[in-house]
Amino acid sequence: MIQRTLAILKPDCVRKNLIGKVIKRIEAEGFKIIALKMVKLNSKTAGEFYTVHKQRPFYYDLVSFMSSGNCVPMVLEKENAIEDFRKVIGATDPAKADEGTIRKMYADGKEQNIVHGSDAPETAAYEISFFFSTRELVENL
Ligand code: ADP
Ligand code: MG
Repeated sequence: MIQRTLAILKPDCVRKNLIGKVIKRIEAEGFKIIALKMVKLNSKTAGEFYTVHKQRPFYYDLVSFMSSGNCVPMVLEKENAIEDFRKVIGATDPAKADEGTIRKMYADGKEQNIVHGSDAPETAAYEISFFFSTRELVENL
């Protein structure tokens, strides 16, 4: 089934000038980028995006990191996109991520881990709508 997932190139990815390399990899893995923009989250919007982690000890730091610079959210489309993209990015902690995954290749730690990927169909739908209106999803224009 053709699926959509939300990817975000996080502020560390943008700061390290890795946007191009990561997008190249995403496309090489067969994902179609159907929407993309650059945004800067503030602590309110970053906090809202990660609200499911509100009770976690790393929440405050995560919100501060995600609002520390520009991000590049994008909508990816592919067969089995959600699960397949999680495989391409690797485990949350790059030290535990498989060889060749984006996080293993580029991330400095379990917080600053380069890229976000939705983890289920419901979260993907919510996260896509968080960043993109229907009119911004190319096929609907
Ligand atoms: P993932 O991004 O792999 O789905 P989670 O949803 O568990 O991981 O966490 C969201 C984000 O919060 C992670 O990508 C990472 O930036 C940060 N994070 C997760 N766990 C930790 C941790 N133990 N310490 C610091 N930051 C963390
Ligand atoms: Mg997650």
